[in-house]
Amino acid sequence: MCANQYIIDIENVTKYYNHKAVVDKVSIKIPKGIICGLLGPNGSGKTTLMRILCGLIKPDAGSGCCCGYDLIKGTKDIKGKIGYVPQKFSLFAQLTVYENLDFIAKIYGCANREKTISELMEKFHLTKYKDYLTAVLSGGWKQRLAIAIAFIHNPPLLVLDEPGTGIDPQSRYNIWQHLEELTNHGTSVFLTTHYFDEAEKCSMLIYLAYGTLLTTGTKNEIVERSDLKTICIKKKSIPEYLPKTLLQTIGPIEVLLERGDEIYATGTNIDHMLKEIHGIYANKIEYTIEQTQLEECFIHLLEKNNIKT
Ligand code: ADP
Repeated sequence: MCANQYIIDIENVTKYYNHKAVVDKVSIKIPKGIICGLLGPNGSGKTTLMRILCGLIKPDAGSGCCCGYDLIKGTKDIKGKIGYVPQKFSLFAQLTVYENLDFIAKIYGCANREKTISELMEKFHLTKYKDYLTAVLSGGWKQRLAIAIAFIHNPPLLVLDEPGTGIDPQSRYNIWQHLEELTNHGTSVFLTTHYFDEAEKCSMLIYLAYGTLLTTGTKNEIVERSDLKTICIKKKSIPEYLPKTLLQTIGPIEVLLERGDEIYATGTNIDHMLKEIHGIYANKIEYTIEQTQLEECFIHLLEKNNIKT
């Protein structure tokens, strides 16, 4: 047992596959009772790191604790303290909502099964679907049931692998409300996501790229640390005879993204960017200076560290 104020506290954790470090000297401290989001391109080691933290595999080097237990010696204890929600639904489609909960409650040897299940169904608003076959539930309700099942032994840490993937926006919103409510009652949540709107809701973010931890912190800390500024240009204000693609030729613009009717030009030297933009488009364009988004920060970090996706 390691006494610790953090739900996850790891130092230089490394895992090799085929002589390659797919998780490379990763150190993180995650306070208790928050939602922490792990992001990164596919193949970056997110699942491997998650499996190490859940006690499912051991790291080849480094040390640390999860839920107060040692990553190497305490894997059995860690497993008992975690509620894991996999990306692919692992529910029994031909069992009802109640039967799925009851089955898992039996596996965990829940002392007061009926009461526990009834409370969980209330908490996750599943009571009215109690007798529905799981197969007929929508993606959002299946996800809710998966979270309720992961929560059956009241774990201090809930680990979710891309909880928003394949789910409609309203259901995603509802699931996030649930997760936030759980943290209000002291549960810690660790999840992976590819959605920037979800990332913005996390109290702490970790960005992992091909095994390397590129940044960690709150959204504001990550944006401030990047030193980036963004110019948001209205597409319609760019004169028709001058193509938008000219922006790509402007040296100090480090990241260029289009969102709807706007183009976002991001770089560290805003005066230089504006001078060059005015040089091409004269004073004809309409623009505003905006806070840089996480997406631009992460792209910038990948390029700065010469990591190609
Ligand atoms: P992510 O979850 O970010 O997509 P993964 O952790 O699944 O990344 O994978 C990281 C790298 O490790 C990939 O190159 C993947 O092929 C490799 N990898 C993952 N698991 C194994 C395994 N059991 N054996 C060999 N290579 C693996």
